[in-house]
Amino acid sequence: MAQLRFEALKRLSERPKVHVDLSTPFVSKFFGENVYGIEQMRATLAPAVFKKVSQAIKNHEKIDEATADAVASAAKSWAISKGATHFTHWFQPMTGGTAEKHDSFFDALAGIEKFKGSELVQQEPDASSFPSGGIRSTFEARGYTAWDPTSPMFLYGKTLSIPTVFVSYTGETLDTKAPLLKALKAVDIAATQVCQLFDKDIQHVVASLGSEQEYFVVDSALFQARPDLVMAGRSVFGHSPARGQQMEDHYFGSIPSRVYDFMKDFEIEAWKLGIPVRTRHNEVAPSQFEVAPLFEEVNVANDHNQLLMDVMNRVAEKHSLKIIFHEKPFAGLNGSGKHNNWSLITDTGVNLYAPTSSARDNLMFLTFFITTVKAVHEYSDLLRASIATQANDFRLGANEAPPAIMSVFLGSQMSAVLDELEKKGNVKIEKGDNMYMKLGIDQIPEIILDATDRNRTSPFAFTGNKFEFRAVGGSDNCATPMTALNTIVAEQLTHFLAAVNKEIDKGEEKRIAIVNVLRQYIKESKNIRFEGDGYSDEWVQEAAKRGLSNLKNTPRALEAYLQKKSMDLFEKHGVMSHKEVEARTEIRWESYIKRVQIEARVMGDLAMNHIVPTAIAYQNKLITNANGLAGLGIDNKAVVQTIKEISGYIEIIKNGVREMVEERKRINKITDTHKRAIAYCDDIKEKYFESIRDAVDKLELLVDDEDWPLVKYRELLFLR
Ligand code: ADP
Ligand code: MG
Repeated sequence: MAQLRFEALKRLSERPKVHVDLSTPFVSKFFGENVYGIEQMRATLAPAVFKKVSQAIKNHEKIDEATADAVASAAKSWAISKGATHFTHWFQPMTGGTAEKHDSFFDALAGIEKFKGSELVQQEPDASSFPSGGIRSTFEARGYTAWDPTSPMFLYGKTLSIPTVFVSYTGETLDTKAPLLKALKAVDIAATQVCQLFDKDIQHVVASLGSEQEYFVVDSALFQARPDLVMAGRSVFGHSPARGQQMEDHYFGSIPSRVYDFMKDFEIEAWKLGIPVRTRHNEVAPSQFEVAPLFEEVNVANDHNQLLMDVMNRVAEKHSLKIIFHEKPFAGLNGSGKHNNWSLITDTGVNLYAPTSSARDNLMFLTFFITTVKAVHEYSDLLRASIATQANDFRLGANEAPPAIMSVFLGSQMSAVLDELEKKGNVKIEKGDNMYMKLGIDQIPEIILDATDRNRTSPFAFTGNKFEFRAVGGSDNCATPMTALNTIVAEQLTHFLAAVNKEIDKGEEKRIAIVNVLRQYIKESKNIRFEGDGYSDEWVQEAAKRGLSNLKNTPRALEAYLQKKSMDLFEKHGVMSHKEVEARTEIRWESYIKRVQIEARVMGDLAMNHIVPTAIAYQNKLITNANGLAGLGIDNKAVVQTIKEISGYIEIIKNGVREMVEERKRINKITDTHKRAIAYCDDIKEKYFESIRDAVDKLELLVDDEDWPLVKYRELLFLR
């Protein structure tokens, strides 16, 4: 049974070096060569057509048919000149990942290559295989994909890929991109209105995202020899290696050469696709790494992240490697997140979260800063829900990942500024006063990006000129958390503006009105601020005292979406209707159930078909040995003791697996999806996963290494 494991290990030692061809050190020479974006449109379209397209993109307007035809024709010529044979509408269904359906340019009837504007603008994929959370059964069976011209087309392999949204014929959105685009529009509108209190020149505000992607790399043969990694994306069994993370030498160590070659290779592919990858380094756990791009507008950044994950998977194949994006693939080691660095930037080029030395600009900065803290305070449960997935549950709240409790870290300097502003709450400001000085906000230091003032345990941290939403999971699509974040900030900004206007109407001076509202927000949102160690037990207790939620599992965390407050929020800003929110929550519960089901099955199969027989075979060897010793009159107590221990663990495993199967039968009869998800969480995952795993991992230590069927952590994780 251990044969597969040893064959895989043998393959590992025979891996040839993969040649990576970087023909020029100047990335600028080929960056974006496979992108058909604004610049390529400018170069290939008639000036009048180009003007129409670029204006429509900027103002989120519809593109007329003649213009679409011209774009399609130019894009086709560009793509074919680069060897393309097909085009596809590329979209992001709620299952996670990306989906596409390829059509050839070649039209056999006409005998030529064709690509019409209507095909660019709209396509009909087979929607029946994508989840719709009941929308489809009650409403319209079919859906269509529609071109998102704000994200550039790209050539992927031999296919021209067109970023699209996925919508049902009755108008409900069926993907993650459509609500994101709406949330980005909402925050643009709300933020621009607030900006105009300070600067009338500001016409648009763009949200930006830089997502740091963490991942594990393992050899593909070893990966294939672990059915749990293949089926569930994480190892359900496996004892910690003797040398785990304790040494913490991986973080600063050099990147293993196989991985280094892989990194260089996928970076080249990413650059060609216009993905601005920039940083590469080791992460904390063995075989864990990170790639971070330069930030971009949220929608494009997220498309790029989705595409990057795909590129990494494909390039890894060439290197006989396998990439694991799962949030917690290996127990006892750090998990993988996707830190979402986020800010708002005006069309005049001002980062609204960057403090400056100008007092006036700082009031605008403080407005956005404090309003964001307040938004997180008001909607912390929704933000928590936005990152809830079955996989992320293993990571959040584990002792080396952001806690499931939402809080905001501001850093000592900004905390001091806010405290000061609050303390001076009663300072009366008269017309003609130097308000900034009186309030102690005349000199907000330009915050130096000081690495010591970083709190890596916070799920949502201010990092000098941006917020970093750290709780997002490594395999997740950022669109969902970004939709939530941008919508709640839009909402809070709307409230802010209304409150300020109310004071102004009462005769208050504008600047004073702004400060008054901010002071009120500081007081009201104090509970959400936490500067200490988010991993500590003290924080769990403190948070409970403050009344903050600590929702450790997805089935319960998702309930926040169905609160009236959340549903109204999304509807008010045109992001999602009540029906859409309900459908999406249903889909996410269903997906939770499926994933727990898969893991339970994998666990059962591996335990009963691989682990138990191996343990029994080994036990038989020991029994022979014990009998032999007894025959010779030698003390066999130690061997007998081991035999008993093994029996004990086998018993635990067999009972656990049997009960788990019975429980699943019972739970599957529960018709309510929410209740079924909770039952899968409480009565399957929480009740059995740990105890079965613990028994298997104990057996791994007892059974002869030669017999053990599963590739061990130490073999998986120490790639050279
Ligand atoms: P860390 O110290 O958190 O690892 P990095 O510099 O590696 O920080 O990554 C930070 C990420 O934040 C990068 O993707 C970077 O482009 C992004 N970023 C920087 N400034 C902004 C901003 N104003 N808005 C959004 N993202 C930003
Ligand atoms: Mg970071």
